[in-house]
Amino acid sequence: GGAEAADERVTPLMAQYIEIKTANPDCLLFYRMGDFYELFFEDAEVASRALGIALTKRGKHKGADIPMAGVPVERAGDYLQRLIAQGFRVAVCEQTEDPAEARKRGSKSVVRRDVVRLVTPGTLTEEQLLDSRRNNWLLGVARARPSSGEANFGLAWADISTGAFHVAEVGAGRLAAEVARLDPGEIVLPDTLYSDTELAEFWREQRAVTPLGRDAFDAMTAERRLSAFFGVATPEAFGAFSRLELTAAAAIATYIERTQFGQRPPLAPPQREALGQTMAIDAATRVNLELLRALSGARQGSLIAAIDRTVTAAGARLLADRVSSPLAEPAAINARLDAVAWAVEAADLRLGLRTLLESAPDIERALARLALGRGGPRDLAALARGLGVASELAGRVAAAAPPAEIALAVRDLTAPDPALSAAITAALADELPLLKRDGGFVRAGYDPDLDALRRLSEDSRKVIAETQARYAEETGVKSLKVRHNAQLGYVVEVAAQHGDRLLGAPFNATFVHRQTLAGALRFSTVELSELESRIATAADRALAIELAIFERLVAQVQAEGDAIKAAARALAVLDVTAALATLAAAEDWTRPVVDSSLAFRVEGGRHPVVEQALRRGGGPFVANDCDLSPPTPAGEAGRIWLVTGPNMAGKSTFLRQNALIAVLAQTGAFVPAKRAHVGVIDRLFSRVGAADDLARGRSTFMVEMVETAAILNQSGPRALVILDEIGRGTATFDGLSIAWASLEHLHETNRCRALFATHFHELTALSARLKRLTNATVRVKEWHGEVIFLHEVAEGVADRSYGIQVAKLAGLPASVVARAKTVLAELEKGDRGAPIHRLADDLPLFAAVRPKAAEAPAPAPDPVAELLAGLDPDDLTPKAALEALYRLKAAA
Ligand code: ADP
Repeated sequence: GGAEAADERVTPLMAQYIEIKTANPDCLLFYRMGDFYELFFEDAEVASRALGIALTKRGKHKGADIPMAGVPVERAGDYLQRLIAQGFRVAVCEQTEDPAEARKRGSKSVVRRDVVRLVTPGTLTEEQLLDSRRNNWLLGVARARPSSGEANFGLAWADISTGAFHVAEVGAGRLAAEVARLDPGEIVLPDTLYSDTELAEFWREQRAVTPLGRDAFDAMTAERRLSAFFGVATPEAFGAFSRLELTAAAAIATYIERTQFGQRPPLAPPQREALGQTMAIDAATRVNLELLRALSGARQGSLIAAIDRTVTAAGARLLADRVSSPLAEPAAINARLDAVAWAVEAADLRLGLRTLLESAPDIERALARLALGRGGPRDLAALARGLGVASELAGRVAAAAPPAEIALAVRDLTAPDPALSAAITAALADELPLLKRDGGFVRAGYDPDLDALRRLSEDSRKVIAETQARYAEETGVKSLKVRHNAQLGYVVEVAAQHGDRLLGAPFNATFVHRQTLAGALRFSTVELSELESRIATAADRALAIELAIFERLVAQVQAEGDAIKAAARALAVLDVTAALATLAAAEDWTRPVVDSSLAFRVEGGRHPVVEQALRRGGGPFVANDCDLSPPTPAGEAGRIWLVTGPNMAGKSTFLRQNALIAVLAQTGAFVPAKRAHVGVIDRLFSRVGAADDLARGRSTFMVEMVETAAILNQSGPRALVILDEIGRGTATFDGLSIAWASLEHLHETNRCRALFATHFHELTALSARLKRLTNATVRVKEWHGEVIFLHEVAEGVADRSYGIQVAKLAGLPASVVARAKTVLAELEKGDRGAPIHRLADDLPLFAAVRPKAAEAPAPAPDPVAELLAGLDPDDLTPKAALEALYRLKAAA
């Protein structure tokens, strides 16, 4: 019937909404209505929950209420940021015509709307949506066809907020390390790769992953799409790329086109990165060494927080990039070190540079916003200011005999045409609005037409007053007034008694009677109505002129885009160099010797983060030496240090400080040591036993073993391996045997440099057989039953574990400490014969006072003790030892 038909009615607005929403099913749709972006239906419910905004209703759809939620346009940035951070994608739909146009088409017409942009985590450009000190990479991953042999991946990564664009090829074994290094804001990949079961878990761990249909990753069309994106005949213009690299790069280009709707970010042509030239560091190692983030997830407490003295956002981004990808080529590393050394020497110049740099705005991101049509007058001004700083810096640095790397930067600083910043400065006012549509940003005196229009609207009151005076004079009616009326516009008003004068000749030729009121008459004139429309349109016309000037300047900026990017990059290089020099001077760091040997020798090394933390409260940091160099100068394999010592002595700190010194040295930074010699490391591994990883739902021990397996399978002679308490996560004998076998494997098969901290003192015996194994211990002193940590690393073996003393320090009740001492004394007697398990009967509190398996091993059942008694460790081959362990295990 009729009622049902009415229920089925869909308003034109809803029809439009549904059409646009259907085209963007995986996004929240921000649908522009006046000063709001509105969300409807399920989107409204989702957004109201995610943003804590009110859920309301608007009209009916097929008889049911339509849920609605909205955000004001001027605050949309904040809301976008929160939605993106929660993993949503947003389609921004704007009105693409004036509502008046729609009305002309008919009373029922809706304003045309279109999606102008998809906001996704990897395609952000707004300042408030980005961390200014980090790059926000969009990473494309393409996979070789299965028939092509080894599974290789093509990677392409771009930051559309800065224009950086790189490609590389990686083997399957290095994919995870590269993804961890880039830490991308978003990954795009073919949906077949996304659904690959082997990688499913890996993708789930990433921040945002967007699978795309095969067309985006089609290798056949990749070259054509990439060339079209850059407007060149063939991508060979950029250099020779492999098919996989082209495929990944083309996917990035296609995805940017899809999300930016025709606006093109100023991407640099893709640059190939040869991954052999950087140190491979996998995700777990990055977490463990706290390179860019501390374990808590915060920047505070990380290596980068401790060393970052940059004064510009671009410099901070470059430093973070460098720390996450240390180099592996001595020549490239030494070029950077030359630059830092130069800046350390030139202290006065450095100070001056940093003051100048501080005033340099973020021109990379300003450029990107302008090119995408999202920039405002302040972005133009920032560019001009930045380019000014660049040329001033170039002048100062060039005069100071800079080394090669800095000389290159100087060349780039002066690359942009100086006429550009002059043109911008000449055009822009001193005080600028945020948005170009607010107008008022063009300098007075710059454009005569604009000046005239502005004068007209600003001076309108004066012009009206002048006109009024002239009319009064001409008509002789002294009390004549020009007034503004809502219906009639500007009118001349005279008192009733003067009406006849204006109604008669000659004045009736000029004054047209419009209205008679109780005591007054109103007239219009051609002159006033012209003035009226001129005033009304003057503001619009002024804005149009300003926008035209803006667009002209943006076009000039874009023409210089590559030169501007080069200058921005050079500013960042100068900032990083000066920052590392400042750090080195302030913290008394030294230049490391980096070469292609297998040396790793550190004298007086310190942990940069722990040292700074101690300075804020706590004693001085005790510097320590470390030498993993091959025992003979021509030796073809480095050493392994087996580090023992009580808990809290400083083992972990020592291990990590050496890994960090390697990272810093290969980043091209000075290092916290008296002297350091690093033969380049191609892979760095760092693991701690039994880290909690409940989120992944694996047992901690399983995680530990998976990670240990990766190290034992992947470390070559140039690797540096840091293993901290491996084998802690399982029963003592299991743990000991695994640690034992791993150590042997590192020594015999991997033949890499390694630091191995353990509480299994039994392992120290291995140094008798493993020729490149050195025992080291973190020394402690016992004084009146108290343990004193010296934090000194020395060759040798820890005499005992001091677990009870440490437990006492930790505040264990005195009665428990006393009891533990009794138990320990009994246990130590037990070592020399008496079956340990009997103690448990005599000492029922045994389990309660056991602070840790390490300090007081669990009582072994009889058969094990007997087996043990029959073993002489000094008399066993590794194989026999392992077999013995299997037997022990079976008996346990
Ligand atoms: P372990 O791994 O042996 O249990 P850590 O490396 O965690 O010990 O060190 C424990 C604490 O000792 C650190 O938090 C730090 O405060 C202090 N420490 C470690 N090494 C040093 C050092 N070289 N100089 C001064 N204090 C240190």
